[in-house]
Amino acid sequence: MIQQPPVERPAIQDPAIAGPSELDRSHLATAFRAARSGLAEGGIPIGAALIVDGGVLAVGWNKRVQQGSAIRHGETDCLENGGRLPASVYARATMVTTLSPCDMCTGAILLYKIPRVIIGENRTFYGGEDLLRDRGVEVIVVDGPECAQLMTDFIAARPALWNEDIGVPD
Ligand SMILES: [Zn+2]
Repeated sequence: MIQQPPVERPAIQDPAIAGPSELDRSHLATAFRAARSGLAEGGIPIGAALIVDGGVLAVGWNKRVQQGSAIRHGETDCLENGGRLPASVYARATMVTTLSPCDMCTGAILLYKIPRVIIGENRTFYGGEDLLRDRGVEVIVVDGPECAQLMTDFIAARPALWNEDIGVPD
């Protein structure tokens, strides 16, 4: 079990909202394995899992490098792998992602009205969490050290590739 370090960012999480459950943590481990798969392929190590009714409906990982894709981030790849689903399924879903979701993935979560998001870490990148919360999405940041280490190592090794992924000019 991962020990949760002290919260450093005051706005990181509303204490009134419950933290991650053991099931959430196991789903985050699934997303983390997906991220590792991406790294093994030479890609950007961000993974995601779409959870419905307590089970894993789909997993995905960032495939921009592997597929030369503009839009296959961890979360969007996961949604695509889940295929076309009715709104009633998304309404019971949780998106689990190893990294704070970027604006594109935040938009996809809002579009499909996914009500809950579990985030592995937001230390290396802080995405659209505030917008998600403003729109009523429950956002839980696990702040897992293994997720942060994976991204820290990757960003140090491949800074240009990382900047490309988040739309930062060289
Ligand atoms: Zn994204």
